[in-house]
Amino acid sequence: MGYRCVIGLEIHVQLQTESKMFCSCSANFFQAEPNTNICPVCTAQPGALPVLNRRAVEYAVMTALALNCRVNEYSAFDRKNYFYPDLPKGYQITQYFHPLAENGYLVIEDDEGIPKKVRIRRIHMEEDAGKMFHQGDSITMSTYSLVDFNRCGVPLIEIVTEPDISTPSEARRFMEKLRSIVRYLGVSSGDMEKGALRCDANISVVDESTGKSSSRVEVKNINSFKFVEKALEYEYSRIVESLKAGEDVGTETRGWDLATKTTVSMRGKEEESDYRYFPEPDLPPLILSREEIEDLRKMLPELPDERKKRYEEQYSLRAYDASIIAERKEVAEYFEECVKLYGKPQTVANWIINEVLRELKEEEGIPLAPENLVRMLKLLDSRKISTKIAKDIFPEMFAKNLNPEELVKERGLEQTSDETLIENLVRKAIEENPKTVAKYKAGKTGVVGFFVGYVMRETKGKANPQLVNEVVRRLLDEA
Ligand SMILES: [Zn+2]
Repeated sequence: MGYRCVIGLEIHVQLQTESKMFCSCSANFFQAEPNTNICPVCTAQPGALPVLNRRAVEYAVMTALALNCRVNEYSAFDRKNYFYPDLPKGYQITQYFHPLAENGYLVIEDDEGIPKKVRIRRIHMEEDAGKMFHQGDSITMSTYSLVDFNRCGVPLIEIVTEPDISTPSEARRFMEKLRSIVRYLGVSSGDMEKGALRCDANISVVDESTGKSSSRVEVKNINSFKFVEKALEYEYSRIVESLKAGEDVGTETRGWDLATKTTVSMRGKEEESDYRYFPEPDLPPLILSREEIEDLRKMLPELPDERKKRYEEQYSLRAYDASIIAERKEVAEYFEECVKLYGKPQTVANWIINEVLRELKEEEGIPLAPENLVRMLKLLDSRKISTKIAKDIFPEMFAKNLNPEELVKERGLEQTSDETLIENLVRKAIEENPKTVAKYKAGKTGVVGFFVGYVMRETKGKANPQLVNEVVRRLLDEA
């Protein structure tokens, strides 16, 4: 009997609307100087009234539909009261009693690769708070904090899952899949490092021999996909240790500390009653008609799972390859552009997965034009260059969007099928390595690779490897 991990996630997704949730300030807050992207509404001046951003509602509904939720025709806003310096109103406008959407799910793969549904309890809309910057050091005691209100009122949705996640790596896959979906929808950058996608995780551990569950611990401040997994692994071990010692961890909120790779206690967890929720008197209920909701459903693009399925059917891609290509919208679109120009989808997929994705930087897009990748595939098909040369020149070609035909010509990289040249090199290698030849004669055919490698080195990778192989075998047999 062991221990079973139970994880639920609360995820904040920043919506990339033009303006903020309740005023016309830009939602693109991080480009502005601190405290310049603000107005009376988002800094809570007396008498200022919020007006709901229609686009934010549309984005929230689209996300809810993509996550298989029931979107409520009636939802409403509430005040969540708490004091913090980055919250000038002293409360956050959120949806507590009547959320926008409920009862959805997202299918992820479990650790064995088997599809599994993670239920989504609710999705509601709310506004973001400002940001604190803590300055100075604690030794000289010259510490102080600055606050920037630029982010106040930026639209968010909060997605709350049921505790259906069973391992830290499932939690990471959930977040990755969610990012993929919000990017496909175009509703959020999904960038965890920049805070556009933020995750709090609740974790408890059940002792399977007694059926008893530990207290529930909340881990906050997780700002990368890797740390979702790391923080939960750390917390799982910590809770199991405590259970083994016949104790229990307390119910508390902990933060992931990047420096020590551990979680540290922040505070005892708040109870919901601490927030004194009540209906927001300055905003009417949010009423959506069935038609409006269905119109938004029609606007949903093809999502990663559907695209994966289509790639398997339409292009006969292997399931794993199809899922890698479909995961990122820009990669999927790149793949389709290449396939339009070149009729071998699996070859395109292999190059994208092995080479393009290795070179691709997270936020920069694909610099190499599809035409140039396809030119290279054609050079390979016509045996003008070897695979080794193609892989050697690829990083530079990719970064600078170079035409491989010109590059190969300029640098004299054409593959050589000059049989006399290859024969001479093989003969030389045979003369210089009588012991290796003897091994071949004794049945160790693996040494063929040694001679092929020799010729490839001498020709700087330009020899046609198939021809070299043939010549090596023939001359070794004759030797
Ligand atoms: Zn404003």
